[in-house]
Amino acid sequence: MRFEGKTIVITGGSSGIGRGAVDLFLREGAKVVMGDIDADEGTAMMSSLGDDFHFQKCDVTQEDQIKSLMDNAVEKTGGIDIVFNNAGAGGPRDAIDEISGDDWDFTMALLLKSVAMGIRHAAPHLKKRGGGAIINTASVCSFQAGFGPIAYSTAKAGVLHLTKLAAAELAQYKIRVNAICPGFIQTNIFATTLGANSDEKNHINTALGQVAAGVQPVARPGIPNDIAEAVAYFASDAAGFVTGTHLLVDGGLLVGTQASW
Ligand code: NAD
Repeated sequence: MRFEGKTIVITGGSSGIGRGAVDLFLREGAKVVMGDIDADEGTAMMSSLGDDFHFQKCDVTQEDQIKSLMDNAVEKTGGIDIVFNNAGAGGPRDAIDEISGDDWDFTMALLLKSVAMGIRHAAPHLKKRGGGAIINTASVCSFQAGFGPIAYSTAKAGVLHLTKLAAAELAQYKIRVNAICPGFIQTNIFATTLGANSDEKNHINTALGQVAAGVQPVARPGIPNDIAEAVAYFASDAAGFVTGTHLLVDGGLLVGTQASW
């Protein structure tokens, strides 16, 4: 029960990595307030996960909805200790010589401004609590080409720099800010980005799992709990001297595969 007595706000917890974090933090004794644009799944989770779980519909591209999520989390649970700014989607896949300005703006709003506003509207509450931990979802795409669309990857690189700058500003309030950088994790993000219907989803997930197992030296795709454990580390007292940095949780993807001679 590493997080007994703590409250965490998680965005994008109706699916994938965020859902893995919801499950881990509930198992470890936290109160969890989750915001997601998918209200059907969030509402269904309310009836199955018990009294320590709260859901509020939240579109993270809308600043007022993020503020409301943070304010209501305090109202429902008494205060916020941990924030996991995680919601996201693949966004438009156009190349730099094709993408529209509107698609670019949307991607930045979904993946970068959302994290900035998550920090912005959580920080006053964390200060009142005497400190806390913020964890942001970046990506292997933050570092190099080849793993995601250009707008997505640019936004994810921004998340890393934002993490460092926010850590520098908020350290005086005992608020630590760190990022996790997942490799290929088996979630719905790829099928959603490709616009797959529910029949195609399983096929895409299986195929991507095989690709991931082939390119990640730890020869399997990641699972949401792999990432949730890294989030738990950054959120815990064990990371009390760790801020402004990131953890790659990518099965060695960025190391590269061993050539066979
Ligand atoms: P997922 O599709 O399984 O989950 C994403 C969740 O975010 C969904 O519940 C979705 O409803 C929610 N969401 C989407 N748009 C939203 C919005 N505007 N407002 C609120 N909620 C919204 O995907 P995932 O793989 O779990 O993705 C979670 C995070 O991890 C994303 O930021 C993604 O970019 C990042 N990531 C994923 C991988 C991977 O391999 N799966 C790798 C690196 C980074």
